[in-house]
Amino acid sequence: MRHDRDVQRLVMWDVDLTLIAAGGVGVEAYGTAFTAVTGVPWTGVFAAAGTTDLEMTPLLFAQHGIAEATPHLEAFFTAYAAEFAAQSHRVPAEGRLLPGVEQVLAALHARPDVVQTLVTGNIAAVGIGKVAAFGLDRYLDTVVGGYGDDDAVRATLVRRSRERAEIAYGPFDEVLVVGDTVRDVAAALGAGVTAVAVATGHTPAAELEAAGAHHVLPDLGDVDGVVALLTGEA
Ligand SMILES: [Mg+2]
Repeated sequence: MRHDRDVQRLVMWDVDLTLIAAGGVGVEAYGTAFTAVTGVPWTGVFAAAGTTDLEMTPLLFAQHGIAEATPHLEAFFTAYAAEFAAQSHRVPAEGRLLPGVEQVLAALHARPDVVQTLVTGNIAAVGIGKVAAFGLDRYLDTVVGGYGDDDAVRATLVRRSRERAEIAYGPFDEVLVVGDTVRDVAAALGAGVTAVAVATGHTPAAELEAAGAHHVLPDLGDVDGVVALLTGEA
């Protein structure tokens, strides 16, 4: 952990379609774990981009005829984490790293004034596992992140991460959320931090703009420009 009074900016990265695409390995592990815990055949996922696992899982259980998900959640998340860990070696081949990601994370990691972490709807084990599959965890302090098994409400994940990071590093001048969905933007705005949107997911730039993002980027491919934006030097 770096110290302390140098650190001024906290960058919270969304995972899926912001940093990486997991190539369906996560969804497959989710379905396998679902059947292992409930005995019910998995019939597939609805559009879940930007939701949190704690928000989505009761809805998916209900869709499969299980009205009360709560008693299953702990066992389910444990099984999901284990199944994903067993399959995560497939992620680099079946998924992909998005343009500029490695270079942007490395450049920000080299700066003493920036801490980077994850704020993702994935449960912690899966969110961290997805970025670790590409070796990106070396650039992140994942301990101070916000995850889909912390809370169902995404804005709460932003607040939780900020609290964790401020305990570790002290107060920040600026906190930024980078994500690919309207839900990432809404979570940032709800928590009172800067929303940076990337149009590398299923949401067009115009929609991210309309949602109130402070900045909208086509992707992270303009490494110098993205680093300048995220460090306030643009
Ligand atoms: Mg995403």
